[in-house]
Amino acid sequence: MNNKEVRVRFAPSPTGGLHLGGVRTALYNYLFAKKHGGSFVLRIEDTDQGRYVPGAEQYIIDCLEWCGISPDEGPHKPGPYGPYRQSERKPNYRKFAEQLIESGNAYYAFDTPAELDSMREQFKSESNPSPQYNSIVRDHMKNSLTLSSEEVKKLLDGGTPHVIRIKIPTSSDVHLNDMIRGEVIFNTDQVDDKVLLKADGMPTYHLAVVVDDYEMKITHAFRGEEWLPSAPVHVLLWEYLGWKENMPLWAHLPLILKPDGKGKLSKRDGDRLGFPVFAMDWEDPKTNEITKGFKEMGFLPEAFINMLALLGWNDGSGEEVLSLDELTDRFSIERIHKGGAKFDFEKAKWFNGEWIKRTNNDTLLPLIKQIFQNNGIDAEVKLLQQIIPMVKDRCHLLNDFIQQSSFFFIAPAEIDTASVKPKWTENKTAFFTKWIEVLQSLPDWDAVIIENEFKKMAEAEQIKPGELQLPLRIMLVGGKFGPPVFEIASLIGKSSTVSRIQNGLQAIEQA
Ligand code: GLU
Repeated sequence: MNNKEVRVRFAPSPTGGLHLGGVRTALYNYLFAKKHGGSFVLRIEDTDQGRYVPGAEQYIIDCLEWCGISPDEGPHKPGPYGPYRQSERKPNYRKFAEQLIESGNAYYAFDTPAELDSMREQFKSESNPSPQYNSIVRDHMKNSLTLSSEEVKKLLDGGTPHVIRIKIPTSSDVHLNDMIRGEVIFNTDQVDDKVLLKADGMPTYHLAVVVDDYEMKITHAFRGEEWLPSAPVHVLLWEYLGWKENMPLWAHLPLILKPDGKGKLSKRDGDRLGFPVFAMDWEDPKTNEITKGFKEMGFLPEAFINMLALLGWNDGSGEEVLSLDELTDRFSIERIHKGGAKFDFEKAKWFNGEWIKRTNNDTLLPLIKQIFQNNGIDAEVKLLQQIIPMVKDRCHLLNDFIQQSSFFFIAPAEIDTASVKPKWTENKTAFFTKWIEVLQSLPDWDAVIIENEFKKMAEAEQIKPGELQLPLRIMLVGGKFGPPVFEIASLIGKSSTVSRIQNGLQAIEQA
C-alpha cells in the first residue's frame, strides 16, 4: 500500500431499512479503514428524490452506532470533505457534466418520455427485448450528437428539458482491477449511455459517485456485487475527467444468499422464514409497517457483526468468535470469498449464544432488564444479578431470557401436567403435602438446606428423589427446563415456593 491516507466510504441511499448486506459492506469498510489507520466516511446518496424516505438517514446512523462501527465523517459528523449528503452537493456536479460534453465524452439529450418509448418499440426484437440508449440508438435520437449546434443552442436557451448522457465508446474494452475478483474486462457494447445529469439538475448516482469519491479523496471503494455492471461507466468517467490515477481501488463484495443458496437474500425471505434481514426494527413511515431487526430480536451487536464479518470472509485460522478489535486486526481483502455466502439463521443464533456467554453480567443486566420491561415484567435488579449467570448459557437470543427465567418473577400461568400425570401416585401427593409443612418450618431459606431436607424426606418416604424432582420443577417453573431446581426455590422465596407447590398439586390432580 502506498502512504496515502486510507479513506473509505459507505454510501447508502436513504430508501428504507438497512439490509444486512449493507451492514456487511459498512463493516468491511470500517475494518479496512481501522486496520490501516484510515478514515471511514458515511455519504448519503440521496440524488433519487423519488425514492427518498424520511427517517432513513437517521436510522442508518443509528444502526452503525449500534454495531459499534461509527463513521469518522458523515452528515452527523462534519469533516473536511462535506457536505456528506449528495443532495447538498447538487450545485457541484453540473460543471463536471459540462466538462465531459466539452471533451466529447458526454452529450445533451432532449428526448421526451414519449420519444424514448417509441425508440424502445422501434428497436425491440426477440434478441433485444428492452433496447437501451446506446452507441447505435443514440444516432437516431434527439441529442447534441445528431442536432446542429445552432439547434442545440436554441433548445438550451429555450429551456427545453434535457439530460446529459455519457458517450460510451463503441466496441472497446474497459479493464477493472478488482481487489477480490482480479482483472475484469467489460466490452462497451454491453454498456448503455447512462444519464449523468437529470432534467432537474440532479446528478445520477453514476456521476455523483465518481465526483464525490474523487473530491472526498476515497482510496478504496467497497460495494455490493450488484454494482459491478456499472463499474465500466465509472472507470470511463474517472478517465474522462482526467482523474484516473486517483481512482480508488475497487472491491465488489459477493452477495449474501438465501439459506438455500438460490439468489440474493431479500426482506421477503426474512418475512417468509421468520428471521430478520434488517439490522434494527424499521418502521415504514408511509404504511407504519414494522420490519423486525436483529437488535430487537435479541442480538448483541458484537455477535451481529461477528456473524456478518464471517459471511464471506475468514482469517483461515478456523476461529470464529472474534471481537471487533480482533476482526480489525485480522481483516484482509485477499481472504474475502468470490462466491456468495449463504445466510444461516441458526448459525447467527449460535454466534449470539457464544457472545451472551462471553459478555460480562453487568453489561447484560440493563439489556435484560429492558427486555423484561418490554414484556411487562418489572424484574428486580438484585434477583436479575443472580439469575443472569444461571441461565445465560441456555440463551441464544437475549429474548430467550424471558422464556428461561420469567418464572423467577411470576408464577407459571399453566404447568406441564402431562409430563407428570402418567406416573403420579397418591404417595407423591402425600409427599408434597407433607413437604410443604417442612418447608414452612425451615428457619433458613437456602438451596443446600432445601435440597438436603428434600432428599431426607424422600428417603424416609421411600420414593426416589429423581421421581420427585421433575414434578417439583414443573410446579415451580411450568415445564422441564431451567437451572437447578433447589436454587430456583431458594431464589423465588419460601412463600412463592409453597404456593406454587400447592397450586401444582391441585393442577396435577385435576388434570
Ligand atoms: N448508493 C449506492 C447504494 O445504495 C452505493 C453504491 C456504491 O457504494 O458505490 O448501494
